[in-house]
Amino acid sequence: MQAAAGAALAPVLARAQRAGAPKPNILYIMSDDHASHAISAYGSRVNLTPNIDRIANEGMRMDNCFATNSICTPSRGAVLTGQYSHKNGVYTLNDTLDPKKTTVAHLLRDAGYQTGIVGKWHLQSDPQGFDYWNILPGQGAYHDPVFLTREGRKQHSGYCTDIIGDFSLDFLKNRDKAKPFFLMSHHKAPHRPWQPSPKYQTWLQNQDIPEPDNLYEDLSQRGGASQRATLRVGEDFNETDLKVPKPEGLSQHDMRKWAYQVYMKDYLRCIRSVDDNVGRLLDYLDAEGIKDNTIVVYTSDQGFFLGDHGWFDKRFMYEETMRMPFLVRYPKHIQPRSTSSGIVLNVDFAPTFLEYAGQKTPDWMQGRSFAPVLAGHTPADWRQSMYYRYWMHLGGGHTVTAHYGVRTHTHKLIYYYGQGLGKKGSVDQPTPPEWEMFDLVKDPREMRNVYADPAYAATRESLRKELYRLKDDYQDTE
Ligand code: CA
Repeated sequence: MQAAAGAALAPVLARAQRAGAPKPNILYIMSDDHASHAISAYGSRVNLTPNIDRIANEGMRMDNCFATNSICTPSRGAVLTGQYSHKNGVYTLNDTLDPKKTTVAHLLRDAGYQTGIVGKWHLQSDPQGFDYWNILPGQGAYHDPVFLTREGRKQHSGYCTDIIGDFSLDFLKNRDKAKPFFLMSHHKAPHRPWQPSPKYQTWLQNQDIPEPDNLYEDLSQRGGASQRATLRVGEDFNETDLKVPKPEGLSQHDMRKWAYQVYMKDYLRCIRSVDDNVGRLLDYLDAEGIKDNTIVVYTSDQGFFLGDHGWFDKRFMYEETMRMPFLVRYPKHIQPRSTSSGIVLNVDFAPTFLEYAGQKTPDWMQGRSFAPVLAGHTPADWRQSMYYRYWMHLGGGHTVTAHYGVRTHTHKLIYYYGQGLGKKGSVDQPTPPEWEMFDLVKDPREMRNVYADPAYAATRESLRKELYRLKDDYQDTE
């Protein structure tokens, strides 16, 4: 998959490498469950993210960056290994990243980088390939969180997002300046249960957050997989999510209307702290004079439903959740305020960083470097379709049905194959197989399944062919 990347090396990048310039630093900031439609650079209707937007204003906004399995642990596995779940063994929330596995951190360290990771890890085993790690155990806590290092566990007082900012800055300040750095600064926020910093506790309290157009969608018009899913804003929230008891006697409509405001305000408050801490890191790079030679990425392990289809959470191969925000700044290589609709995946991140570091992508990685795309020179043979698979059948308390599918620039085909295949986080209960197909041009909100529509018969067949071609290509044979 990665064969053409070297040949298509962007001229700017090639020139920088020829001149024996120092390898770029890589600051990779990843939050948890931050949907791109809650970032103002992506046109958010619900909030402003001025610091995250600085990366977009001074770099590129990727409009079609997708998770290959839209849930926390598997997406992290894919980022680190450049492989799909069926190759790296991280299928569900319950899987461990094999500590013997080579990751992008090992490869960058071998290439002379000082490597560090701070914040959410969520892969059960200890981080490998990092010179420094200071991570949350499991999901971690928002307030007075415990962190784990090689020296053991330590509780820190304060708000988790700010502490992750502090530790990230400490790594940068204490770094070995003779080496380039690779820092993964991973926020826990804005993951459920959306507990804000005390300083933003009352922010937004007198405002109404705009509702999405399909907040009250009638799910009985959709297939079994949608009807089965317990992601409903209102019904499927508990008191930890809402922090207050549910009002009694409300209709489903009114309960949703009320719960949406409670949920979104806390979600956006959490994001405000993330945005502040992105700003602190960018300010440090400016003050240190290393902005020009530092690649800065802001992304999230997947997207999130913000009341879309009446839902919260992720997992589905629908637009709002499979889409990852991906903003990247590298002044030497990427034009300010540029955008790309090229389809890039979380398995491409590792190959991209390796190319910037002057390293080859190992054969076992399944992604491809998109450094040329970032430079505005998308290779002629760049992918026009992507493969997705969610494995955690009915698991994790949200009863989302396992599925795989293909997305092109214009259409999406999803197959809910109806069983858990023995994966640890799955429930061993078969469901009827089901297909969905969406016309993303006419129906970007994915409201109408056109799978059985005769007008789409030819498109359906070509998508099916493409789906199984990709499945073979990635060797997902189970
Ligand atoms: Ca997540």
